[in-house]
Amino acid sequence: MKKITIAIDGFSSTGKSTLAKQLAKELEYVYVDTGAMYRAVAYFAMQHEFIGADFFDKAALIESLPKIQLEFRYNADLGFAEMYLNGENVEKPIRTIEVSSFVSKVAEVSEVRTKLVEQQQEMGTNKAIVMDGRDIGTVVFPNAELKIFMTASAETRAQRRFYELQQKGDNVSYEDVLKNVVERDYIDTHREDSPLIIADDAIEIDNSYLSREEQFAAVLELINDVVKTV
Ligand code: C5P
Repeated sequence: MKKITIAIDGFSSTGKSTLAKQLAKELEYVYVDTGAMYRAVAYFAMQHEFIGADFFDKAALIESLPKIQLEFRYNADLGFAEMYLNGENVEKPIRTIEVSSFVSKVAEVSEVRTKLVEQQQEMGTNKAIVMDGRDIGTVVFPNAELKIFMTASAETRAQRRFYELQQKGDNVSYEDVLKNVVERDYIDTHREDSPLIIADDAIEIDNSYLSREEQFAAVLELINDVVKTV
């Protein structure tokens, strides 16, 4: 079967990574979670006290960018790649609500985006890749053969993320999760550099009332259609 590039964009907590992982497994493609890369940079900025509740030293972060080394290492037990920041596995800390509360501010910085987009484009040179994020179909892979844009109501998304965090033992309230989801969506759609928008040729999927299985089946059908035409 012909190998293609699949770009999955959409709002926070729409289940992009769940779908992308399912597809990568089924098609034996590489899966890349670009949100993890922005989260790792945000985590670095927090560790170095470049960002906090009421401050953000963008210049210091930009100056430190050459010292940030990001790498995905495949974990065969989990069946997907984990994020490493300067050689350290940061999969767990980057998923906390604290990192979620700073990541969109870090993702607004053009110098950060340039560095990460370059790395993402390199990962996609051989196609056979499923990448999820906010600017994949618009900026990273504007020529992707299949572009999906995922949406769901803010409440549905917050409920899902709240449940996920609770499962991980994160002691967080539903209200805080909802606030974070709404805030991130606002920043992501309003930033100057590469805002979250639907690419003209993207297929929009609202999964508020779709099960994972229904969604997966629908997207597999789309892929089969696309593969026949390339
Ligand atoms: O996908 P996830 O929710 O983990 O992404 C975290 C944040 O990283 C997003 O809210 C957004 O601010 C930023 N991001 C981005 N561009 C991407 C992926 C993520 O700006 N391609």
